[in-house]
Parts: sequence; structure tokens; C-alpha cells
Amino acid sequence: MSAAREPIGVIGTGYVGLVTAAGFAELGSDVVCVDIDAEKVARLNRGEIPIYEPGLAELVAKNRERLTFTTDIAPALERARLLFVAVGTPPTYSGDADLSAVNAVVGAMPASDRHALVMKSTVPVGTGANTKRLFAEQGKSGFRYVSCPEFLKEGTAVADFLAPDRVVVGDDGDWAGDAVVDLYRPLLVPDEGGNGPGQLVRTDIASAEMVKLASNAFLATKISFINEIANVCEETGADVVEVARGMGLDERIGPKFLNAGIGFGGSCFPKDVTALKQLAGNSGYHFQLLNSVIEVNELQKRRVIGKLEKHLGGLVGKRIALLGLAFKPNTDDMREASSLVLAARLQAAGADVVAHDPISGEVAKPMLRGVELAPDALSAAHGADAVVLVTEWQEFRDLDLADLRAAMRGDVLIDGRNALDGEAAVAAGLRYEGIGRTARS
Ligand code: NAD
Repeated sequence: MSAAREPIGVIGTGYVGLVTAAGFAELGSDVVCVDIDAEKVARLNRGEIPIYEPGLAELVAKNRERLTFTTDIAPALERARLLFVAVGTPPTYSGDADLSAVNAVVGAMPASDRHALVMKSTVPVGTGANTKRLFAEQGKSGFRYVSCPEFLKEGTAVADFLAPDRVVVGDDGDWAGDAVVDLYRPLLVPDEGGNGPGQLVRTDIASAEMVKLASNAFLATKISFINEIANVCEETGADVVEVARGMGLDERIGPKFLNAGIGFGGSCFPKDVTALKQLAGNSGYHFQLLNSVIEVNELQKRRVIGKLEKHLGGLVGKRIALLGLAFKPNTDDMREASSLVLAARLQAAGADVVAHDPISGEVAKPMLRGVELAPDALSAAHGADAVVLVTEWQEFRDLDLADLRAAMRGDVLIDGRNALDGEAAVAAGLRYEGIGRTARS
């Protein structure tokens, strides 16, 4: 633990809030964490971590004395000037971001010349301007506003917080923006007085808000692009893994986010892409490209069904095992996971679905009615006509494919993440098909 620094409040103790709180505590701040979920706060006070995130339990335990968990906003306002907002902004039916939790926080702020809201939640461009207008109407114009979007990735959130690529601070050039930069200083590049590696982007509020939405939309576009290339590879005999390797070596393109698969999910990409599309539409601009990104992603989740039908000659009464449920490895987050669409489509087509996930089984259970949950991969594969790799957890990469084949009734292995060794699968007696690669048997 480092020397004491400015105390802060963090409102919302989910994936972003809890990591932010523990991260700033590690850098030396006392942090008052506020959440409306009394059960979650009680668990945190008992030393339990309500989410699965590698390294988070250790970081919270290490900095326990600097962390307070409460349902009451008052101690945060009393002890801190900066109130980081990390409440959820899920999609509404229209696809716009639901700002009700953000608005509840804004509404709970008192008139004050001493405080600032620091928005970490992903919000539409214009939220900062609207909040400042609201503060002015309510006689709270002294309350400052800073946009500080979060870029951490579930599964590596702690490491991402402590070693950010960039720190984006959008503000009105006042004390609050300076104070946020000071808090992040130890994580900034030496030019900014820190030890790195974070590049500081200090800008206006609207641009900071847009950096977040545009970044997620761009990454989602890259995924949908390589998925379409994969689909064309399947028609033309090329191998998308080879294609992506060749493309990624071009430094203008880069190798990341070029893994073809069964589509993106999670709590951010689907909702943020849709929210940006809606934001554009609401301001009179038709964001054509994002429509395609979303549509390609929806269709991609369903392509596995076609592969299974082709190999099994129909799905009625077939037993299909899904390996992995979480939207990506090393998280228990099931929000918008491709597995949910896949399981529902398989059931609708008459298949029996069994699944195993190393971590997210309990979280997934209520979302997967009629899906049998198995205690491990081989139990899931037991008696299955086909196995589908949905989430590329390391333990699935390490599976002995001969054991997998021996457990199954059938011999079809669909590798939805191109994470397994196709030749080893064939050698083990499996009919193997990845995404964007020639089927092997
Ligand atoms: P989450 O659902 O895990 O956590 C949100 C928390 O806020 C919950 O604990 C909830 O009880 C609490 N909350 C709701 N209303 C509240 C209120 N009025 N007062 C206090 N607490 C309240 O959400 P998350 O995944 O941490 O995401 C939070 C925000 O950060 C979202 O806008 C999201 O888009 C953005 N974001 C998320 C990630 C990610 O990987 N999860 C990454 C970057 C940005």
C-alpha cells in the first residue's frame, strides 16, 4: 500500500465500481463505496466478493482498511470531494441507454461547491451537458462534472485498472478534472509524472463520452468484420485463422480482435453499439455501418445451429453439450452471452441441451430453463451427440480430446472459438468443425 491520498466515493459496486474502489485504495485513497443493493453491501462487509474477477478478492482484502461499504450516500459526501459513478446503464427496449440509475444518483446530490461527479458509467454523449443543466436548474451549479469513462475488461479488470492504455478525462478545466488526473497520476506515463503506462487524454466532456462509445463500437466492428471473412472462408476454402494471422501482422490492423467465432456478447459491446446507433439516430444521423455490425453478430450466433444440423441430420432428440456459458473466459458475467441464444435455439429445434461452465453455472442457472448443468466438461459430454465449445476457458483448451470422444455418444465437435487443435480432434476420432475453417473428419 502506498501513502495516503485524496479520499473518494464510489457509487455502484459492480464490476467497474468495485475494481475502481479497490484500485484507488491500492494507490492510497480511502474509498467509501455506496450501493443500493443492501445484500451486496452486507456481503462485502462480511469480506465476500459478489462477482468473479481474478485478483479482485486479494486486492480488496489487502486494502480492506481503506474501504468502507455502505448503502448510505452521506458518508461519501462527508469524506470525499470526488464521487465516482459506476452504476449500470443497461439497454432499454428502444436500445437507448437506461439512465435511471445515473439519474437517481444525480438527483441525490445536494447543492455543493465542494463536490464533483466523476462519470465512469458508459453514458450517451450529452449526459454531462444534461446533468450540468439539471444541476443549474436545481440551484446546484457549483457541483462539478467530470467524464472519466472506464475501459477495463472483465477477466483482466484489476490488471487493466492498474496498467491502463489510456486515461480519458473530460471536464471543464476546473479543480475537479485536475483532481481526477492527480488520482490517476501514478498510472500515467512519466511525461505526466507517473510510472505508466497510461497516456492521458484530457479533453472536453462530450468528446470523452464519445471516446468510450466509439472504442467499443470499433472493437465490435472488428469482430463482425472477421466473422464475415470467416463465413466467406468457409465458402471458398480459406482458413480464417491463417487469414487473421496474415492480416494482423500489418501494424495498421494489429492482431487483436481478429478471432472469428460465434459472435460477441457481454454487458458492454451489444448495448454500447446499440446505444451509439440510437444516439446517432436520435440526433438525425443514420449510422448504417453499426446496423450491419449488430445484424452480423446476431446471425453469427445462429450459424452453429446450421453446422450441427448439417452434421447430425437434424436436431430433434439430439443431445448437445455446450462447453462454456459466460460471454468470455475468466468471468461469471452472463449478460448477453452467446450461449443463451444458442441454448434457446437448440431447444426450439428439439434438442436436449446440457452445459458446463467452470464459474458461471450458478449465475446462468435461472437464465437457462430446461438446460441441464453438468459438474465438469466430461460429464457434460457424456452421451452427447455433439459438443460445442462456446467459451474458450483454459480448462477446455486443455481437454484430452480422446477422453472427450470416449464420453460422447456421437462424434461431432464444433469449436465455436477456434480454440482447439483440429488435427488432434480428428486423431481422437472426432468430426471437427471450427468457424471459418474447413471441416475435418
Ligand atoms: P454492475 O451491474 O455490475 O454494477 C452496477 C452496480 O450499481 C450494482 O451493484 C447496483 O446495485 C448499483 N447501483 C444501481 N443503482 C444505484 C444507485 N442509485 N446508487 C448506488 N448504487 C447503485 O455494472 P458494471 O458492469 O460495473 O457497469 C457499470 C457501468 O460501467 C456501466 O455503465 C457499464 O456500461 C460501464 N462499463 C462496464 C464495464 C464492464 O466490463 N463491466 C467496462 C467498462 C464500462
